[in-house]
Amino acid sequence: MMAPFICSATGPNPLAIASFSVPLPLLDRFICAGLLHWAMSPAIIGHSETSLLITKPRFWTLGATMPSIRPDRRVMRLRREVVIWQIVSLAGCAQVITAPGVRPFPSRRSDGATLNRNLGCASLGAMTRGDFSAKQIFDWYDRHGRTLPWRSHWPDLSPAYHVWLSEIMLQQTVVATVIPYFLDFTRRWPEICDLASAPAEDVMAAWAGLGYYARARNLHRAAQMVCDDFDGRFPQDEDGLRALPGVGPYTAGAIAAIAFGRPSVVVDGNIERVMARYFAVETPLPSAKAELGDHYAAVRPNDRPSDFPQALMDFANAVCTPKNPGCLGCPVGEGCAARQAGTQDMFPVKPPKKAKPMRRGIAFVAIDADGRALMQTRPERGMLGGMAAFPSAGWTDADPPFDPDMPFASAPFDADWGLADDQVSHVFTHFSLTMDVAVTRLDNIMDGSEWQKVRVSGLPTLMRKVWETAGKA
Ligand code: SF4
Repeated sequence: MMAPFICSATGPNPLAIASFSVPLPLLDRFICAGLLHWAMSPAIIGHSETSLLITKPRFWTLGATMPSIRPDRRVMRLRREVVIWQIVSLAGCAQVITAPGVRPFPSRRSDGATLNRNLGCASLGAMTRGDFSAKQIFDWYDRHGRTLPWRSHWPDLSPAYHVWLSEIMLQQTVVATVIPYFLDFTRRWPEICDLASAPAEDVMAAWAGLGYYARARNLHRAAQMVCDDFDGRFPQDEDGLRALPGVGPYTAGAIAAIAFGRPSVVVDGNIERVMARYFAVETPLPSAKAELGDHYAAVRPNDRPSDFPQALMDFANAVCTPKNPGCLGCPVGEGCAARQAGTQDMFPVKPPKKAKPMRRGIAFVAIDADGRALMQTRPERGMLGGMAAFPSAGWTDADPPFDPDMPFASAPFDADWGLADDQVSHVFTHFSLTMDVAVTRLDNIMDGSEWQKVRVSGLPTLMRKVWETAGKA
């Protein structure tokens, strides 16, 4: 590795940490030599290019990145200057670190932006904030944006029914999972009033497998409200949308922007990531949400209001990904504070993770001589609310208690129960569940509507796992 990068030991971006100070008359040559160095050194490939800050009247500080300045071919030959540049850079580095009032490796993070702040000069990020180019995002979106069944492109607007349905489905769920559900829903219920008049159990069964079943109940109620109270037309403003069951601030903003072209603030987890990195927002989530929303509002353009949030979401998904973002080819990378400091993986700042509590429970699978199983509908409120399920115990307050030493004490009826060899593991948002599976096979055919042929596609994921495990017993 070349000499100036001695300074890299303290953080992810050696150039940013070093913040080399260079006498102005030598600047041009050093920049080009620096780019040559950058091009040659595998140690910094991936850290970005090189940029400039005026920090003092007679000095420039070389920080991270400068995509706008191209290396001069003539200078590429000046190997000698590379060596000089390194020496001067090291001297500059020493000057920075020993300057009065400078804490070179500050308490929170030892990155170049912080060092620059300590020097009393503009930080790398501050220099380019506000330069966020919506045009660059739109150019990227026009070439690389996804084609999705609920999506239109400005000036066309997607039907509010489609936008709302997709946004509710996309809460906590990835696009690839949602697409077949969206297509199935819109095939069964082409208009919102078709959905509103559908039996609740059909809606719940069609939703099965998407998880977070309260969403499906709210979806159905919201459809009924739109049909009954608004004559089948969605409210267009965020306040009106938020009055619908299951529609929170983000979803209301997304519908207002995407379906009605309103200039709302639309900040989902993907857009949060882009804003947090671009502006190097150090406030941890969720406290940072308002700040991230302010940044979004500041960079939001007046044109293509329905495209902008969708373009940013696609961009976050394809380029500014949670891990290994594609910063080198990023259309807005030139102004990205995290990229300049080499701290992309530190944003968004998240609160410390809490360990998920563990829960234990049991499910009872009783099968009669006709192959039908004893089924229940879960209570309307609570886990798997309103969904078809096998009787169970122990894992929610709504279920009977479960004692692992007496596993069959909560069985729905006395029978020759046996435990399956395998247990079912399932992770919910707030807890992890381990579930025993008790099975009994009856010799007679049982009466009653609760004995049903099992429709696996209509079961929530946990109960699908229970059914599979019971099948192996
Ligand atoms: S991809 Fe990299 S450069 Fe672009 S916004 Fe994300 S972190 Fe910044």
